[in-house]
Amino acid sequence: MRTQVVIIGSGPSGLLLGQLLTKAGISNILLDRVDQDYILGRVRAGVLEWGTVNLLEDVGVSDRMHAEGLPHDGYLLAFDGRDHRIDLHALTGKRVMVYGQTELTRDLIEARAASGETSIYSAEKVQPHDFDGEKPFVTYEKDGVTHRIDCDFIAGCDGFHGVSRKSVPEKSIKTFEKVYPFGWLGILADIPPLEELVYANHPRGFALCSMRSPTRSRYYIQCELDDKIENWSDDRFFDELRRRLPAHHAEAMVTGPSFEKSIAPLRSFVAEPMRFGRMFLVGDAAHIVPPTGAKGLNLAASDVHYLFEGLREYYGEKSSAGIDVYSQRALQRVWKSVRFSWHMTTLMHRFPDTGDFGQKIQEAELDYLVQSQAASTAMAENYVGLPY
Ligand SMILES: Cc1cc2nc3c(=O)[nH]c(=O)nc-3n(C[C@H](O)[C@H](O)[C@H](O)COP(=O)(O)OP(=O)(O)OC[C@H]3O[C@@H](n4cnc5c(N)ncnc54)[C@H](O)[C@@H]3O)c2cc1C
Repeated sequence: MRTQVVIIGSGPSGLLLGQLLTKAGISNILLDRVDQDYILGRVRAGVLEWGTVNLLEDVGVSDRMHAEGLPHDGYLLAFDGRDHRIDLHALTGKRVMVYGQTELTRDLIEARAASGETSIYSAEKVQPHDFDGEKPFVTYEKDGVTHRIDCDFIAGCDGFHGVSRKSVPEKSIKTFEKVYPFGWLGILADIPPLEELVYANHPRGFALCSMRSPTRSRYYIQCELDDKIENWSDDRFFDELRRRLPAHHAEAMVTGPSFEKSIAPLRSFVAEPMRFGRMFLVGDAAHIVPPTGAKGLNLAASDVHYLFEGLREYYGEKSSAGIDVYSQRALQRVWKSVRFSWHMTTLMHRFPDTGDFGQKIQEAELDYLVQSQAASTAMAENYVGLPY
């Protein structure tokens, strides 16, 4: 088999890149090691920057998002028993869209199926080869038979645990990592959410009230890294969540049985560079951020934008200028989002050494943030997403 671009990974990065390439007439084959049902069962992100919304519009995969998604003009920072609104729209002229990653992925998978481009799911032993030369190729096994796809480029969109980054010789890659000393216990429940996103700083720990639709809530509380979901009945979870919120939210909150409950560790991770000859790393394959700033999926989208622009230039204008600067352009934005996510995480969570002094400092910084238009604007412009 031969194609122009092999895309490894059918998460948001791979699917979005595939749609953009297909629309531009650049052939591509997408490979994933799991099947579509598994991919659609993964519960993850939900807050989209407007740049991500625009990209989905560009590839013609935005009708359901605009019909069912929830645009938000602001969010609440809750601390010291009160709410403080960050008015995203007033401060930046932009808003965010709440639309679950699962739904977005479903829309992209359906659009790809309609486009007729080849997708191979449940592909085993996927392996990129010879990407440092002129003739890269990818091998995989399916039903016990080994296949080979020759290509011009390989897009490693295979997430943090994928094979692309691991295929790069250690001496050619530098990684940066920060592991946070706590996790997030999250639940999904079919109950009406609070009206706005609420990020709460509380002496008992961080809490986030988010949503996926007008009838589906996504709630998180900071927990110990070694905690177990078996320790958390729904009642215990909601009791703890309410304690960390201002009283009026705790009273207004509708509770109900959860249908998903998980504990996620938090980390910041960046691999540099993001290009190795004819292979590019995209999205979580190259970087991870703690979910506090809602940036992971959005960074995947901005990587895709930069890579697509480079590939379009390569095929359309016979110029490698865009792919030559892909890594540099993507990493500039990545590090700004890593900084923002780290800052939100540091500001909102209780660390082992936070103590009463640290709590007061966090509250003072939060108070400054909401009182100063300059500081609120800086936070808002990062939250809605820095320009590409
Ligand atoms: C609990 C949680 C909450 C989050 N909340 C937010 C949020 O609010 N906002 C936000 O922007 N982001 C959020 N994120 C992050 C977001 O989900 C990720 O950044 C996003 O999924 C990255 O997309 P991706 O396509 O790069 O990688 P992935 O979604 O990880 O997709 C990678 C794909 O590659 C496939 N793959 C892996 N290895 C191989 C292999 N060897 N061969 C072939 N295929 C392979 C996988 O099966 C997968 O389908 C959250 C994440 C979590 C875990």
